[in-house]
Amino acid sequence: MLLGILKETAPGETRVPLLPESLKSLLAQGIAITVESGAGTAAGASDQAYADAGASVTADRAALLATADLLPMVNAPQAADQAQLKPGCVVIGFLRPLDAPRALAAAIARPATLFSMELVPRISRAQSMDALSSMATVAGYKAVIAAADRLPRLFPMLMTAAGTIPPARVFVIGAGVAGLQAIATARRLGAVVEAYDVRAAAGEQVRSLGAKFLDVDLGGISAEGGGGYAAELTEKALDRGRDLITRTAAHSDVIVTTAQVPGRPAPRLIRRAAIEAMRLGSVLVDLAAPAGGNCELTQPDVEQNIGGVILLAPLNLPAEVPVHSSQLYARNILNFLALIVKKGELTVDLADEVLAGACVAHNGTPVNPRVAKLLEAAAQSS
Ligand code: NAD
Repeated sequence: MLLGILKETAPGETRVPLLPESLKSLLAQGIAITVESGAGTAAGASDQAYADAGASVTADRAALLATADLLPMVNAPQAADQAQLKPGCVVIGFLRPLDAPRALAAAIARPATLFSMELVPRISRAQSMDALSSMATVAGYKAVIAAADRLPRLFPMLMTAAGTIPPARVFVIGAGVAGLQAIATARRLGAVVEAYDVRAAAGEQVRSLGAKFLDVDLGGISAEGGGGYAAELTEKALDRGRDLITRTAAHSDVIVTTAQVPGRPAPRLIRRAAIEAMRLGSVLVDLAAPAGGNCELTQPDVEQNIGGVILLAPLNLPAEVPVHSSQLYARNILNFLALIVKKGELTVDLADEVLAGACVAHNGTPVNPRVAKLLEAAAQSS
């Protein structure tokens, strides 16, 4: 069996799905590994390091696509690459099957078997494969670092002979994986932190990090969806959050916003008035930008200056920390591979709920029911 590691082609992508240190257990099973030249360079892994670890290195991407049985990737392959896949091969990565199911059509038709890291069920057994959490952790950290870098103020309180400087005030909206890491990072830098989430269960975690949890009375509505996620709220309930956010923005130097509802556009929580209430030089980082953004002024991937307030809407912060993002992702991928590679052989058993949940398509047939529905709807509308 041949495992291929391709160089990612998405603009700005720096991560690699497996690092040289990840290869040992795979090679020990008799799996051959070929790496496209330069695949790991941005993540600090040279071609030589892969070769030293026991992989072959090639500059021939087309030949690798045509011969690889197993392709762990970061992002979904482009359509042109999909058309060259070896029939029956297995592709694993952030394939965006819920946002862009049609973009996978060529791979499904080969047929290839596709597993999406976004769809790995969030059950205890699959925690070590939870790449969404790994990347959200990196994004939460990096969002605060980016804000601290842009803020014309210091984060920690300083008592100096020249006087006392008060700590920065950071407001985190959405206290899930990214939000909690943002809180922890801002606290480590010495900021005073407040946080808001619709899930009351997040309150205890926020307080345990030394931040203040802001509660909103939602008038008895349950904000808990399945699997620890939030449910989509009514406009009336969202308005209560929006009012709190506008009030809190007025005394915040930094806002990091991360609120998301799986499979839905991000809730619009931050009004223009909230930004206008912030002090000159304040910074807002909208981590929900890939899902449209939490702020009504957000333009994904565009940096804006709105009356002196900086609004950042990054789409891929994990790619700005390629070494550790790749390290975490590679571990998630290795743990996932352990479910489908036994003694060097591919064995896809869809009776396993983790595999069935994460499987976009197997041998040309859609598997995950949500994705199957979307693909069917897409086929009908074309
Ligand atoms: P997410 O990225 O979908 O959302 C981020 C946060 O936004 C969530 O905390 C959500 O409650 C919040 N949010 C949504 N709508 C909001 C609104 N209108 N106003 C304010 N906040 C809003 O979520 P996530 O970070 O991926 O994870 C959410 C939960 O899942 C957490 O409780 C986390 O601990 C849990 N989780 C469980 C596992 C597992 O394996 N069991 C793995 C990862 C995360």
